[in-house]
Amino acid sequence: MRAKKQLGQNFLHDEAVIHSIVRIIHPQPEQTMIEIGPGHGAITQYLYTQVGKLHLIELDQDLLPELQHKFGNHSNTEIHHLDALKLQLDKPVDQIVGNLPYNISTPLLIHFLYQAHNIPRMVFMLQKEVVDRICAQPNNKTYGRLSVMLQHRYHCEARLTIPPDAFDPAPKVDSQIISLERKADSVDVDLQKLEKLVKQAFSQRRKTIKNNLKQMISESILVENGIDPRSRPENLSVTDYQKLSHHVD
Ligand code: SAM
Repeated sequence: MRAKKQLGQNFLHDEAVIHSIVRIIHPQPEQTMIEIGPGHGAITQYLYTQVGKLHLIELDQDLLPELQHKFGNHSNTEIHHLDALKLQLDKPVDQIVGNLPYNISTPLLIHFLYQAHNIPRMVFMLQKEVVDRICAQPNNKTYGRLSVMLQHRYHCEARLTIPPDAFDPAPKVDSQIISLERKADSVDVDLQKLEKLVKQAFSQRRKTIKNNLKQMISESILVENGIDPRSRPENLSVTDYQKLSHHVD
């Protein structure tokens, strides 16, 4: 079967890499887990007998018979023909994992962030460049919207870097595993407001924060919150953005 580029299909074939991912996922018998995009089951084969319940979310209809054949007889495994971007959790799971289709990884991360109350942990394979952006610290070129949004709710840790030849077909870029552990103390923030704020704040990275936010936050509010209005967006911490989000309409 040909890999479908439009579905971000880069299948893992390197057993050592697959084992490393499974070690980081660390499946446990009492866990309910969701795997996004199981594909041919490269990771799934080491998960389905190790967890209490496994939900497989696969959009490609052509992969379903194979998944059904390999995992469908296991009573703890459920296969869902579904777009992961439409996944709405009505109760908590222990983990969401997967080698994500890179073309939708950013919207998918934001989609899950909005459901963080039901997702204490995520382990994903992503483009290395995206992992860099998520884990970046302030005063860094790669620090931006994705860093603030995800670090607001999760401890983000960049793990193993994976070269293109671990996949078939090989992507053009390096990949990296990231683990996201939900922070114990959730800060009371309206996520939509935070999203609106950081979108505006980072709209022009070379301008000052005062300038970028002038339609949204007054200079005096910046000063009251201990923020130098002449700072650039990347100079503000996640906490700064959390505080400012309370002033967004
Ligand atoms: N887990 C397999 C592996 O590691 O070899 C496949 C990973 S491949 C990078 C991404 C998988 O996600 C493919 O199986 C693809 O069909 C599936 N996929 C793509 N878009 C999806 C979506 N919106 N919802 C669910 N699955 C999707």
